[in-house]
Amino acid sequence: MLYTIEYLTEKIQASEKPYDLEKITAAYELANEAHAGVKRSSGEPYITHPIAVACILLEFCMDTDTICAALLHDVVEDTDVSLDTIRRKFGEDVANLVDGVTKIGQVPLNNSKEEQQAENIRKILIAMSKDIRVIIIKLADRLHNMRTIMYRPPEKQRKKALETMNFYAPIAHRLGMSAVKEEMEDISIRILDPYGSKAIEEMLDKHKEQRDTFIDIIKERIRERISDIQPPPTIEGRVKSVYSIYKKVYVKGKSFDEIYDIYAVRVIVQTVIECYNVLGIIHDIFKPIPYRFKDYIATPKPNRYQSLHTTVIGREGIPFEVQIRTYEMHNTAQYGIAAHWKYKAGISGNVTGEKRFDWIRHILEQQQDSDDIDQLADAIKVDLAPDDVYVFTPKGDVITLPAGSTIIDFAYAIHTQVGNHMTGAKVGGRMIRFDYKLKTGDIVEVTTSPNAGPNRNWLEIAKTTEARAKIRSWFKRECREENIQEGMASIELEFRRNNMVPSPDFILELAKLQHFDNADDFYAAIGYGGVILSKIMQRAKDLYNSRNADKIQESDEDIMNRSIRKRKGGVVVEGIDNCLIKFAKCCNPLPGDEIIGFITRGYGVSVHKKDCMNVLNSPESEKERWINVYWASGTESDSYNATLDIIAEDRTALIADVTSAIAAGRLPIRHITAHQLKNGNGNIIVTVEVASLEQLNALITRICKIPGVISAERTGIV
Ligand code: MN
Repeated sequence: MLYTIEYLTEKIQASEKPYDLEKITAAYELANEAHAGVKRSSGEPYITHPIAVACILLEFCMDTDTICAALLHDVVEDTDVSLDTIRRKFGEDVANLVDGVTKIGQVPLNNSKEEQQAENIRKILIAMSKDIRVIIIKLADRLHNMRTIMYRPPEKQRKKALETMNFYAPIAHRLGMSAVKEEMEDISIRILDPYGSKAIEEMLDKHKEQRDTFIDIIKERIRERISDIQPPPTIEGRVKSVYSIYKKVYVKGKSFDEIYDIYAVRVIVQTVIECYNVLGIIHDIFKPIPYRFKDYIATPKPNRYQSLHTTVIGREGIPFEVQIRTYEMHNTAQYGIAAHWKYKAGISGNVTGEKRFDWIRHILEQQQDSDDIDQLADAIKVDLAPDDVYVFTPKGDVITLPAGSTIIDFAYAIHTQVGNHMTGAKVGGRMIRFDYKLKTGDIVEVTTSPNAGPNRNWLEIAKTTEARAKIRSWFKRECREENIQEGMASIELEFRRNNMVPSPDFILELAKLQHFDNADDFYAAIGYGGVILSKIMQRAKDLYNSRNADKIQESDEDIMNRSIRKRKGGVVVEGIDNCLIKFAKCCNPLPGDEIIGFITRGYGVSVHKKDCMNVLNSPESEKERWINVYWASGTESDSYNATLDIIAEDRTALIADVTSAIAAGRLPIRHITAHQLKNGNGNIIVTVEVASLEQLNALITRICKIPGVISAERTGIV
């Protein structure tokens, strides 16, 4: 590849984004002049490197200033051109970007002293927190240097490969830039362990032809079955990256045959509901391997990766992974944070804003006293995720909310009265559920009614403390009577679940323990959420047990049998394992009725009675959206809550790993608390709803496999 200004200009002109070609050309001219006569180790003129970096960034559709800074990124460091000159000619933004990249370049990453190294990473993070484009340029710079690393002397190669592996690839990963990460890792591992990676490549090569045919057949079979989806989905075959196989083979000690996802097929569709439809079809064609299904659409990874993953077995008996995602998810998976520039016009201004990068500051604060390099590197790996979403009012005002916020948070962020009287909201013109998680770029339109008031379950849905506080104060003010009733009901329910039958005296004693003068105030506080019942239950139980100590101890099994309760009937959708279900309001099907499912736009499958008028009168055009559904066998299946006591080495994202292990089994979490033990270990207590002991034991096995987990034990049934 010959990187010249003509090549760059051609790429810019071919781009769909508007670029200031004049400014870019001027940046090129300055850089070209400054680097004149200098050659790279490859023998090419030095200017080819900044041009190559600019080209990589152009692929991410980064803005004009970023491209200019890329062209100029080495001039301050390597030539006589000063930062002031750049500022004068190209403005503050470009100058700051060049300065940031230069500073990161000066941070020694292989310093022998660990504390020094931690300090250096901190410097990188600070540079990033000012403007994320700095690190994106640096990643592109490093990527091109790695692509041309073979021209450097061997010891340089090792040093750069090590740095790349330890710092740049993890940062790329945390920014969700998986294409960059994988390429960096694959180049680095070939340098760091030439023999090991060669062995992997040979294994891959050996089966290449076989594999290609295999993937082609699979793709064809999938294509036939989903041919009615319009426009036709993209189906691509994919081989795992060398380094990810390397890790499984050498680090996790798996044999080549044990790696299910060496072969993978990816299906890319337009909408989320199509994702689940395709999943159903895939599970119909091929046999799914249990416990290998992951729903990263419902539960995105911390770096915002979203997809459905399932591992299935084809007719040939070879397992392979299928990833299903929308185009938008695909772009985010490939480009990560850079996708903001690529696909979401209008966000670029905000992305560099102050607030968005609080997370980096947060890490820095946490790590202030720490000279533990691993901890810091872990923090980079886990916590580098932008935490805010930017949503818009219909008038175009921007409201900044923490990620995971709902329309309730939005309404209260606008005004307390808007929140208190909200009846619903639309995003992009479509009515959405109260628990819909707002995404950056959403335009939210709230509807209000003077007679409406908040619902008590809003307290659980709202994400921000501000909204919750406002909801609580509304309940406190508006409905004391109702709060008392509500509090009594919650206490009764919660106590019954714990097999406790409290006397009025006992309640009063408990109320006084919580500093209430009388039982009614206590009930009312529970009612409006001022006292969180689950938080005081342990204390209540202890008190209760001490008052009723002479009662006979019940065995776990007895308690379990008693606490089994009937659950609303489960429905199985043919071919789809994990999908949203709602019961149609028109016919309200009950267990035992003959039922059929309708694939809705946007809310999973709605279940109707087979003889419902809406079913009988369904237009021909919607025929394909009806699917078979059944009541789960033994509907009204038994379920009970089980509590696990988990002890683990304390580390970031531990809870996330535990909850995703639970999510992997599709078990609802009823309650979770975590705290640190005196010896520094973490202790998580989690209550989940399970249908059988078998399911519970499978969950314990999964949790014990999480790195750092020391023990996971069932503490009893609540
Ligand atoms: Mn460079």
